Amino acid sequence: MKKEKPNEEIKFLADRMLGRLAKWLRILGYDTIYPLDIRDLALLLRARQENRILLTRDTHLILRKNIGDFLFIKSDLWKEQLQEVIKGLQLNLSFPNRLFSRCSVCNTPTLNIGKDNQIKNSVPPYVFLTQNEFVYCPTCKKYYWKGTHWQRIKEKIQEFLLDNKENPSA
Ligand SMILES: [Zn+2]
Repeated sequence: MKKEKPNEEIKFLADRMLGRLAKWLRILGYDTIYPLDIRDLALLLRARQENRILLTRDTHLILRKNIGDFLFIKSDLWKEQLQEVIKGLQLNLSFPNRLFSRCSVCNTPTLNIGKDNQIKNSVPPYVFLTQNEFVYCPTCKKYYWKGTHWQRIKEKIQEFLLDNKENPSA
């Protein structure tokens, strides 16, 4: 595993068993693709071509000769999976700056959007009145706002990072 790579350049390819993990890595700001219908060899090639670390739960896949950088994920649970990635790759999470900097649905970097008339016409009136921070995904063509859902996610991650600190050997 190449350790000299700065964190922000670390990119992932999650196999089809790791959808939930992929979503959480995107929320944390990591470029993570999650191809659903791809054969083993194509998966390995794509990871190598795009310089991505392959995250996989597939014990057969990791035995292949042409495998590049990879991390074998042991757990079935997303929290533990995320922990495996953070510890295994010694990720230094620049929390909370990069939080929500990518669309969790499609992996596209999101754009911070000011509260303007375009927003006014694109979100429900109550949301426009009560929210101040918006981001836009140019691929999904959707606006997201930092409402209660995001607050819950943030709390979950804070909780999770705290757990990590308190149980360094877990
Ligand atoms: Zn999107």
